[in-house]
Amino acid sequence: LEARMQQTQRLESLGQLAGGIAHDFNNLLAVILNYAAFIIEDAAGTPPAADAEQIARAARRGSDLTHQLLAFARREVIRPRPLDLNAVVTEVHQMLDRSLGEHITLTVRTTDALPAVMADPGQLEQVLVNLAVNARDAMPSGGRLTVDTAEVCVDEEHSAARAGLSPGRYLRLRVSDTGTGMPQDVIDKAFEPFFTTKPSGQGTGLGLATVYGIVTQAGGTVRIYSEPGIGTTFTILLPVTDVQAQRIVPEEVIAGLAGH
Ligand code: ADP
Repeated sequence: LEARMQQTQRLESLGQLAGGIAHDFNNLLAVILNYAAFIIEDAAGTPPAADAEQIARAARRGSDLTHQLLAFARREVIRPRPLDLNAVVTEVHQMLDRSLGEHITLTVRTTDALPAVMADPGQLEQVLVNLAVNARDAMPSGGRLTVDTAEVCVDEEHSAARAGLSPGRYLRLRVSDTGTGMPQDVIDKAFEPFFTTKPSGQGTGLGLATVYGIVTQAGGTVRIYSEPGIGTTFTILLPVTDVQAQRIVPEEVIAGLAGH
């Protein structure tokens, strides 16, 4: 438990640091973009304009990256409430169906009549989307992505095995792929901010750090089971709440996603 708390604190201070740097950096990039725009205008049609165009392009990429960092560090807009996990999964299912591509087969299995969990709908969607994007990246030549939900009971015995989880009722959300899998040294670092094995420009290393932050903040846990060459399963446990789930309004969910 001690180690887990240290890890959470470390991730939090890293997140704050990243947020602060991203903010200042974004202001600098805005200045660069502004002056590049002046040159492009003044030198229209001449070589310096084309050069300034390159500068502007790089600054815009930097700006995109700082926005991702800010989304990762931002914490104030979270609105946890009793949620129907299946409704969130169904919402994301429709979106993924359209964006995963034909070579990936998506299967969603929800267990009916699940109790509610306390979470922010936009954040839970973010968790699912981040895991799905990673799964897609791990299956460049196609494969299967499976998402399922169920209720599980953590008893004393399980509790000991799952350091940090108190006994009780949990919802389990699993995201499995038949992709490249992860060697142990990657699993060990996967949740750290900025850890990525993807080529530069393609990975930020913030996807799983965000997942970790959201899930632990909601009182849950996330674990990785992975075998190189076979695939990866992310298992998330979220504590059940006694309060009945509120309906999620789709516009609200979309607004939540746009904010990230
Ligand atoms: P990013 O996707 O930007 O690299 P993440 O934090 O989302 O950052 O993931 C960190 C690393 O964990 C990835 O670079 C990849 O090596 C590994 N990883 C994450 N999900 C999977 C997966 N489903 N299959 C294989 N490797 C994965």
